[in-house]
Amino acid sequence: MAYHSSGKLTIPLDIPDVDIIGTEITRDGKYIIEVESRLETTPCGICGQAIKCSYGHGAEVELRHLPILGYESYIRIRPKRGQCLSCLHEPTTTQVVGWYEQRSPHTKAYDRYLMKQLIGSTIEDVSRKEKVGYDAVMGAIGRQVAVEVNWEEIENLGTVGIDEIALKKGRKEYAAVITARQDNGEVRILAVLEERKKR
Ligand SMILES: [Zn+2]
Repeated sequence: MAYHSSGKLTIPLDIPDVDIIGTEITRDGKYIIEVESRLETTPCGICGQAIKCSYGHGAEVELRHLPILGYESYIRIRPKRGQCLSCLHEPTTTQVVGWYEQRSPHTKAYDRYLMKQLIGSTIEDVSRKEKVGYDAVMGAIGRQVAVEVNWEEIENLGTVGIDEIALKKGRKEYAAVITARQDNGEVRILAVLEERKKR
């Protein structure tokens, strides 16, 4: 292991295909990390063919990301835009990348992190501890329900756990989080299922 005396750490951002173009710590202790996508193309929103992203940028978005040394962190990005010259009226498309969904206020990594926080906890607790709105936590659950498992990424099933999350206080609506603990101790989310009644 190499030791550095500068008192600085280099930690991986865990976001593929981006360059960090700036970082900032706000007065209230939030890390803002400004990034730019390295990817040059995106599928046209109409015909699906890969188009070059040379049509400027869309509006800046700020996405909640994994905490850094206990501080809230946010990824700031101005998504690239491309124009399809084959489609009628030459429509423009905002670049789609794998690490966040458009209209989501979180990175996918943060959505998964929230699911782990919800295990054995309530939505109200997680909302309070993480300082995210109740609806933002619900949104994260909704996006996870739709996610399909990439089984190739799961080394082995190890210990499979099923945990219930109470969706609404006082109402008997639950979601179930299915997790697998890997040999290295990492907990992977296999699925989030909606269920109406506690079994
Ligand atoms: Zn097109």
